[in-house]
Amino acid sequence: MRLKNKTALITGAARGIGLATAQRFTEAGAQVLLTDIDDEAGQAAAAALGSKAQYRHLDVSSESEWSAVTGSLSELDILVNNAGITGFAQCSGPFDPEHLDMDSWHRVHAVNLDGVALGCKYALPLLKQSRAASIVNISSRSGLVGIPGAAAYASSKAAVRNHSKSVALYCAEKGYPVRCNSVHPGAILTPMWDAMLGEGQAREQAIEAVAADIPLGHMGSPDDVAYAALYLASDESAYVTGIELNIDGGILAGSAARPD
Ligand code: NDP
Repeated sequence: MRLKNKTALITGAARGIGLATAQRFTEAGAQVLLTDIDDEAGQAAAAALGSKAQYRHLDVSSESEWSAVTGSLSELDILVNNAGITGFAQCSGPFDPEHLDMDSWHRVHAVNLDGVALGCKYALPLLKQSRAASIVNISSRSGLVGIPGAAAYASSKAAVRNHSKSVALYCAEKGYPVRCNSVHPGAILTPMWDAMLGEGQAREQAIEAVAADIPLGHMGSPDDVAYAALYLASDESAYVTGIELNIDGGILAGSAARPD
């Protein structure tokens, strides 16, 4: 009951990390509004979670949809800005710095960065009326290092890291009871990876190849990130704002190059 009497809104919650977070939050006693653009999966997910969960359509890149969804709420304690895209499945690309397709660049930023900024903007009027509120922004390890073949994704996630700190300091300056932190997952096995991993035996080999570059030796699970979000959403993290929490099996701990 770490989130007893709290209400939460989670974006991109129909599957993957967002769904796992909704599961952990309802278990912990929160009332959770799952949102997504995949209405069929979102409704099924909320129904499976029972009376503590509801579903609403919300394209995070749409200011009018944010306005409508938050305008219909009377209270909110927790916002998890989780929805995000690599662009590989949604846009034409390419995404390398030399050949960037600018429409693809803008679409990735519209979802990953504008989506987070709009979420913070529209949730703050509700969150500042809470007794103790928390914004958890799901960035990425790619927000901390360069990714040559996914420059738009990396740029958008780096901006999420920085905006989280601006929001944290703004709320502190204003005396709002709102904390804001970013989470930086790396190599979490979710449907986001499907386009990159292939199918069948090739998929198993691709997963092994990814795992070989992870110090802990395996990819993470959605729950590994959900538990971090649970901590940051709960009052246990009351003195934590403006931080970045890496959930990456040690990838960001250092270079794989060894002096031997
Ligand atoms: P998934 O692709 O599995 O799930 C993302 C969900 O967001 C999908 O249901 C998707 O719907 C939805 N979505 C896509 N676009 C929008 C939009 N415009 N508005 C609302 N919802 C949308 O992703 P993950 O669970 O893996 O990732 C969740 C977050 O974690 C993302 O921000 C991602 O960048 C981040 N992350 C993930 C990592 C990983 O290894 N998995 C690593 C680092 C960061 P649809 O299916 O219709 O596209």
